[in-house]
Amino acid sequence: MGLPVVAIVGRPNVGKSALFNYILEKRLSIVHEQSGVTRDPVMSPCEHYGHKFLLVDTGGLGTHPKEKKVDLFDGMIREQVMQVVADADVLIWVVNCQEGITPQDEEVADFLHKTGKTVVVAANKADNDNIRKQAFGLFAPLGYLDIHAVSCTHTHGAGLLMDAVVEHLPKQEEGTETEGEAKEPKRLKIAVVGRPNVGKSSLVNRLLGNKRVMVSDIPGTTRDAIDVPVDLKYNDEILPATIIDTAGMRRKKQIDTVVEFFSLSRSETAIKRADIVLFMIDATDPCTTQECRIGRVICDARKCCIMLANKWDIAGKNIKEKEFIAFVRERMPFMDHAPLHIISALNGYRLKGIVGHLLHVREQMGVLIPTGVFNQFLQDTFARTPPPMSGTKRFKCYYGTMKQNNPPKFVLFCNKRSLCPAHYMQFLQNQIRDAFFPEAGLPIVMDLRERTKIDESDDVRKAAAGAKRVKEKEYQEEHRRVQRRKGYIKK
Ligand code: GDP
Ligand code: GDP
Repeated sequence: MGLPVVAIVGRPNVGKSALFNYILEKRLSIVHEQSGVTRDPVMSPCEHYGHKFLLVDTGGLGTHPKEKKVDLFDGMIREQVMQVVADADVLIWVVNCQEGITPQDEEVADFLHKTGKTVVVAANKADNDNIRKQAFGLFAPLGYLDIHAVSCTHTHGAGLLMDAVVEHLPKQEEGTETEGEAKEPKRLKIAVVGRPNVGKSSLVNRLLGNKRVMVSDIPGTTRDAIDVPVDLKYNDEILPATIIDTAGMRRKKQIDTVVEFFSLSRSETAIKRADIVLFMIDATDPCTTQECRIGRVICDARKCCIMLANKWDIAGKNIKEKEFIAFVRERMPFMDHAPLHIISALNGYRLKGIVGHLLHVREQMGVLIPTGVFNQFLQDTFARTPPPMSGTKRFKCYYGTMKQNNPPKFVLFCNKRSLCPAHYMQFLQNQIRDAFFPEAGLPIVMDLRERTKIDESDDVRKAAAGAKRVKEKEYQEEHRRVQRRKGYIKK
């Protein structure tokens, strides 16, 4: 069917089937049940906030009603499970909070690490707050840090779990591709948005050259935007792109107000579908309420954004560039992350730079920072500019990791979320942006995860014990070497 596969795995009795049913009932709409099956369904197409996938319960494989359940390491269906795991895009590994890590879990861990698959851990049977808080500390030693406490009996936690799961699913293209199209290079989807009359059509015309698709100007047309594939050129480089052309619709003067009324929702759809948003503002009358609203939609959608201040041929006569930029930054502080370019779509002023910039952004969108480098950066940043004290306490970050790109998402493991003031969080985001994604207009998503005392002591104790073991072994070996050299022992 071509749907990405999410498989639920784990040792017996951790609650795989319970989770399967909980996810289907609670959070997801079942698209269709398997037909003609007499046993419990073991797979079902599902959807979570627009992400479609096939959910497979490996605990249900090979089972018939009232029969004993079989699991990941049951010899009988081992092959079958292995196949599902091999085909899966994401695995939900169910563990039991009430029992902690068992030897069988460790066996499963070994197997899962070898597969190299993306694993999201469902720490099930977290039936109360206390257990929920301990879940991370309990299972972090298994080597997967994407841990979510859930309780199938109390129907709690599947939402966040599935949010994490769908993040890892391969991006699904809208519409069906034909065989020929499937071989096309990946095109960067660029939406050109802005308030009416800001110059979107003029810019799109310039970008598309003579490829502009003219659409009928019959009022009431149902098409909101058209996608126009185009190979943008910058010196010797080519950027395969698709322009989501919201301005492609030429409209009649008398319906302008209606169009204006709908323009925000039209922009919203285009923004959601885009990889990069070119947000045009009118330099002759910048930062109107409507413009700010569009800016906020872009931020909320966490899209990469480049701001283009158009009509500089007129505006530039009355204001200096520096003053203009300062004005926009002050009025739209929430767009601080987006580089601001000054252009004129009418006379072509600085238009060439846009494609160069898009190429730079495309490259930045693929950056994944290695955990070691990121932690060094965090250490330096915290040492240089420590967070402010909050009463007698201070925000502490133990370590962090980059979970995904586009948009870049970071998880920081900290002592207490509430100790991190908003301005310090903003500072961290800016530092990350400046250090790793300069001038890319990428929103930086930060996820602060609290480590409870139990987690800390537990992990620290385990790490310390591990280090001590290594040290003792090294010491003993060194001691032996010396003894051997001195002839006190033979071998
Ligand atoms: P599977 O063998 O991994 O598929 O596990 P099942 O889904 O059959 O569940 C095993 C047992 O755990 C059943 O008795 C469930 O009722 C129980 N169980 C599942 N989820 C929870 C939970 O969140 N809390 C508690 N306390 N029990 C659960
Ligand atoms: P849209 O509604 O956002 O698609 O805007 P259009 O591209 O239709 O442009 C609206 C008006 O602004 C037209 O009359 C354009 O000629 C004019 N316009 C567009 N870009 C510029 C520019 O850079 N400078 C000036 N002076 N006028 C522009």
